[in-house]
Amino acid sequence: MNISAKTRLCLIIGDPVGHSLSPAMHNAAYEALKIDDRFVFVAAQVPVDEVKQVVKTVRTLNIRGLTCTMPHKIEVMKHLDWIDSAANKIGAVNSVVNEDGILKGYNTDWLGAVTPLEKIASLKNMPVAVIGAGGAARAIIYGLTHRQACVTIFNRNLQKAQSLASEFNCKAKSLDNLSILPNFKIIINATSLGMGEQHKLTPIPQQYLSKIHIVFDIVYDPPHTRLLAEAKTKGATVIAGWEMLLYQGTPQFELYTNRKAPESVMRSVLLKHLKPYE
Ligand code: NAP
Repeated sequence: MNISAKTRLCLIIGDPVGHSLSPAMHNAAYEALKIDDRFVFVAAQVPVDEVKQVVKTVRTLNIRGLTCTMPHKIEVMKHLDWIDSAANKIGAVNSVVNEDGILKGYNTDWLGAVTPLEKIASLKNMPVAVIGAGGAARAIIYGLTHRQACVTIFNRNLQKAQSLASEFNCKAKSLDNLSILPNFKIIINATSLGMGEQHKLTPIPQQYLSKIHIVFDIVYDPPHTRLLAEAKTKGATVIAGWEMLLYQGTPQFELYTNRKAPESVMRSVLLKHLKPYE
């Protein structure tokens, strides 16, 4: 630890926030780049009706970066000076940068989804099935359509899928239509099925998975989900949810520090902290 009077604070707020891996990931990266005298990253649990006050404090204390996790990504937008076009279209901000008192809002969640996919496939005209139509799906669908993928949204609540589909010019289906998954090349689970106490569940029957698929499960707790295990057994290429955490974190790090993120250090931190569900 190398904190002095010149060290700038970065902060993650959420409710809850105790599970967040952002402090460990950012602080390890500061240390690796030997800028831990310039930045320190901490977490604070904040109820949603206190977000306005937190943003005021960011200005008063000249806090450099404010990361917002659930449920603050929408509320924080009301209190900023400028919001980038991706965050505006997604309708959520996860990263606020304090540029000499001007608070600028960004969304890096969509990059978290698109970056690991683009390492192995071109998204243009690619048929992609997104299962889920919640907050995370919204950022992912923005990213996919921004890259000109052909997206179909499958959701339990069909109306939610239809409304998202009309906004982003995609197709919508109910979960009763998963038998058409063999027509897609990329399948993304953006539901919470498979997470935590639901770790024995999967949103996709194994019979619809095959070696033609890239299967991306954004659930990261546990890091190896049942969906990914079954997809692997069928010979599919798999992407784990921690990759989305990593690749939303690297551009955020760069926004706050103006330095290239040490990706391998940040990856090691995530892998060290994420453990199979007991
Ligand atoms: P959300 O807004 O609450 O949306 C939840 C989604 O899951 C909805 O589409 C919901 O369908 C669906 N769902 C929930 N229970 C279901 C069930 N029993 N059967 C079928 N569908 C079900 O949540 P979110 O913020 O989008 O987060 C979704 C998941 O992504 C969570 O597990 C979260 O931890 C994970 N996540 C990961 C990252 C990452 O970086 N890897 C980032 C963000 C979120 P209905 O609309 O029908 O209710």
